[in-house]
Amino acid sequence: MPLSEFDLIERYFRACGARRADVRLGVGDDAAILECPAGAELVAAVDTLVAGVHFPQGSPPASIGHRALAVNLSDLAAMGARPAWALLALTLPEADESWLSEFAAGMAALARAHEVALVGGDTTSGPLCVTVQVLGHVPRSAALLRSSGRAGDAIFVSGAPGDAAAGLAIEQGRLAPANETAAYLRERFLYPAPRLALGERLLRYASACIDVSDGLLGDAAKLARASGCGVQIEYEQLPVSEPLVRALGADRARELALTGGDDYELCFSVRPAQVGRLLADLPPERWGYARIGTLRESAGAEVLRGGAVMSFSHSGYDHFMRSAT
Ligand code: ADP
Ligand code: MG
Repeated sequence: MPLSEFDLIERYFRACGARRADVRLGVGDDAAILECPAGAELVAAVDTLVAGVHFPQGSPPASIGHRALAVNLSDLAAMGARPAWALLALTLPEADESWLSEFAAGMAALARAHEVALVGGDTTSGPLCVTVQVLGHVPRSAALLRSSGRAGDAIFVSGAPGDAAAGLAIEQGRLAPANETAAYLRERFLYPAPRLALGERLLRYASACIDVSDGLLGDAAKLARASGCGVQIEYEQLPVSEPLVRALGADRARELALTGGDDYELCFSVRPAQVGRLLADLPPERWGYARIGTLRESAGAEVLRGGAVMSFSHSGYDHFMRSAT
């Protein structure tokens, strides 16, 4: 018997994620009613994942549910915000119950881990497409922007960029490393971990922040441009995971760390005078981040390797070097 839209929502989405006292009215009425804490600003983000574009057709449903929420939580992390509520607009080709229960479980597990309540949404039929909106808050005027970096600020990145892009290549059959390496990298694509705890801590240290979704080099350049400056990244400083180096070798691993996508890590700038305090209060080994370069006056993004400027295109290393200008 086909599942009615009402039953589908009741079964899979009414009690998805955390229970929160600030949800006055959640799933079930025409709209949700949410209570904002005094002294906070509301922070909102929305992202759409289209099957075959943002994830391979046939991805594990739990991963689709996880990622649809994770990419939005990552946007809030980049603002230094704490997420509270999510809405889900789901377009489904059919009401496949085993697909739906795995999808909802994947989303619910991540939502609960970050105390996010699913408070509403919309369900329609059509080609698979998942849109999640996340709402959260940040103390008034404290949010981390892209635009407040300055030339001279140090640039950092969290985690090990490039892993997720390698994981996607494995999903798509373009890369086939040994089993354990493949499992690690696939997991990094399928279940990214939004850096919410780090983002919130960075409210006290960072001058600017962006989440890395389209490739570290391009996203660092976006932060720099928004801040009215440029960025220089030191190739040797790029953090790469051991599995990524095993899969690709040291050079291609760093190339992917710069240009791959889907990392959902944080790239942030810190005033020189704050760097010591950052490193002391949030030990990089424990919090998982590394210094990779500096914001500078001259526009654009540049990667230095052994003092020489490397040239990159969007699709990766251009295989030619230019002399530093
Ligand atoms: P309406 O016609 O008023 O939009 P719906 O039948 O679409 O009502 O939704 C009924 C309730 O279920 C609403 O509270 C809505 O927010 C919620 N809802 C619908 N689809 C989803 C979903 N995929 N996830 C979470 N809540 C949903
Ligand atoms: Mg509706």
